Amino acid sequence: MKYLSTRGLAPLAGFEEVLLTGLAPDGGLYVPETWPVLTADEIAQLVGRPYAEVAARVIALFSGEAFNEAQLLEIARDVYGRFNHADIAPLTKVGAEDWILELYHGPTLAFKDFAMQFLGRLFDAVLARRGERLTIIAATSGDTGAAAIDALKACAHVDVVVLHPEGRVTDVQRRMMTCVHAANVQNIAVAGSFDDCQAIVKEMFADRNFVSKVRLGGVNSINWARIAAQTVYYFTAAAAITNAGEGVSFVVPTGNFGDIFAGYVAKKIGLNVDRLAVATNANDILHRAMTSGDYAPSGVAPTLSPSMDIQVASNFERLLFEVMGRDAEALRARMDDFKRDGAMRLSASERDAISADFLSYATSEDETIAEIRRHFEASGALIDPHTAVARAAAQALRQKGALNGKVVSLSTAHPAKFPDAVMQATGKTPELPPAHHDLFDRPEFMTNAANDTEAIKQAILAGVDQKE
Ligand SMILES: *Cc1c(COP(=O)(O)O)cnc(C)c1O
Repeated sequence: MKYLSTRGLAPLAGFEEVLLTGLAPDGGLYVPETWPVLTADEIAQLVGRPYAEVAARVIALFSGEAFNEAQLLEIARDVYGRFNHADIAPLTKVGAEDWILELYHGPTLAFKDFAMQFLGRLFDAVLARRGERLTIIAATSGDTGAAAIDALKACAHVDVVVLHPEGRVTDVQRRMMTCVHAANVQNIAVAGSFDDCQAIVKEMFADRNFVSKVRLGGVNSINWARIAAQTVYYFTAAAAITNAGEGVSFVVPTGNFGDIFAGYVAKKIGLNVDRLAVATNANDILHRAMTSGDYAPSGVAPTLSPSMDIQVASNFERLLFEVMGRDAEALRARMDDFKRDGAMRLSASERDAISADFLSYATSEDETIAEIRRHFEASGALIDPHTAVARAAAQALRQKGALNGKVVSLSTAHPAKFPDAVMQATGKTPELPPAHHDLFDRPEFMTNAANDTEAIKQAILAGVDQKE
């Protein structure tokens, strides 16, 4: 299995390199050279299998010579054995043909643990083999940082630097990052938005000198290995609720387009996925792009679902690459134009190609609060605001007749990560699971920084120098 860059100017790469570097050297995103395929029989054999076995089976399609299925199974058993629920990704029925897929039973209570815990193990294995050290840098809108830190804090061969937008993550989200005290972890609060943090990380990767000096690697949602790990729960969910050959739709609370792109990959490699619905909050660039063709960032508005307060959805480039017939040269020109103009237009044929698989809906703040309340009144259970964005979208799209049959909405975070929104909607304070009971008693470790790539680079270089 080889990977090519969406921008066509990077050499083909193997899974190890794709894992370690994240972004391709030409600024593009790695995608498999050809899509592997699971046959209907092979997919039928996944029914009833433990989560770790499905994970090893699916991820082995992408890991080439770097990891075989038996090695992946050992890692998957360890990693998912640390989750707080025996089913790892349990489904809850919430309507005649509606389910919620709970993806928040990992160590940091958000779906990002699924990929990140796995990645931490893959990194350590590959770096040990190579006798190398790596600095992982991540920009976070709240949950990636905590997931990365938890996954990497025990890695012998990895340093981790996390940039978060100062004051734009919840206290629980911040403390899950800053209350970890480990010699290889550095938290930086940036005076800016998540998009600013993401832009800083991109600029660092564009500086080849800096990349080689600190041996920079990425775990942001553009890392292909994360996408691969996220395809797994689409398979386990479909296996649990559909009969042979039956289709199922997924509604995905979307920010960087990573999680929903994993659903698209599941479809590409053989799963019978009916529709994939992008659910956004008020930061609705993807919804606007899909309905009007205008992919035009308009400034980030803080919302109740901060992990989706994103304008430029990095992984959308992977879908564009597919709908442009994998024409890397045309895509590269497109992305150059986008950089110059700050916006782009999707052609009619591109929009048609996208709408063959995707739907979209933008859930307002009022609808989010109303859905948390409605869900609580109907079931007695609390859901987090990201889950509410998806559930509100699922109901609205079903009502419009755009979604039919079995529908799974992804529940991406534990309600206790977003207590203010839940309190505002229901008057209830969601309780943190026992593993996090002392979160607010622990000291925090972080530094503050201006929205200035050069200054942050210097701080990271100083930290790396100390270790040498
Ligand atoms: C990251 C995140 C999302 C968005 O996922 P993308 O892969 O960026 O689209 C949704 N919900 C929660 C809770 C998240 O942490």
